[in-house]
Amino acid sequence: MVPGARLVILGRQGAGKGTQCMRLARHYVVPHVSTGDIFRAAVKAGTEFGERAEEYMVAGKLVPDEIVIGVVRERLCQRDARARGFILDGFPRTAAQAEVLDEMLDEEGMPLDLTIDLEIKEEDALARLATRRVCSTCATIYSTSRPPSINWTCDNCGGEVVQRLDDTEEAIRKRLADYNDLTTPLIDWYEARGSLVQIDAIGTPDEVLARMVHAIDSRKQA
Ligand code: ADP
Ligand code: ZN
Repeated sequence: MVPGARLVILGRQGAGKGTQCMRLARHYVVPHVSTGDIFRAAVKAGTEFGERAEEYMVAGKLVPDEIVIGVVRERLCQRDARARGFILDGFPRTAAQAEVLDEMLDEEGMPLDLTIDLEIKEEDALARLATRRVCSTCATIYSTSRPPSINWTCDNCGGEVVQRLDDTEEAIRKRLADYNDLTTPLIDWYEARGSLVQIDAIGTPDEVLARMVHAIDSRKQA
């Protein structure tokens, strides 16, 4: 394994993007850049920026492009991302975001190694989301069938493991609809650029990780 990678991970809610991106970040020793995690941390910290994002998030609505783009630009320009790369999770999700990202990476001389679409059927995604729980401190993901070992206390950091405020039936429905309408077209967009691989999201976390690493390493050596 060669450390470093520049990856975009697509996949609808419930595909296991967050779980796999954390593992990929450890595997390739690169930062995991999750726009959702960045917003949730800002909400938790009670910043003005967090308050603005929270209105949208609770309703399951997308945060306006100009806010999200600013956040990503700032994060990708930091030294670790410039030096080793990044795993982008939850961005881009609209055509406008994809176009700006493309320009940004071009200008900075940081081309993507690969875009992965983590594929899952909507019915399987819904079943996973209903049982999803997440650490409110480090964002490690659990489920009611795979809980932390002690009473909803995170195995990784001791934080409180909770259900996300936007994992309500209504907000989930809205997010999945937005994914189908706004994000699915990006799969063809990346495919046309020859940088897309589709990976089956069904399997144990280890199995899915192995499929992703295989696809990434084949591309990096090509
Ligand atoms: P999910 O993929 O389950 O919807 P995320 O953790 O990726 O969850 O994002 C949570 C929320 O943060 C989204 O519902 C949205 O309000 C906001 N958000 C995250 N990424 C973006 C993005 N790229 N564009 C717009 N809003 C975003
Ligand atoms: Zn934790």
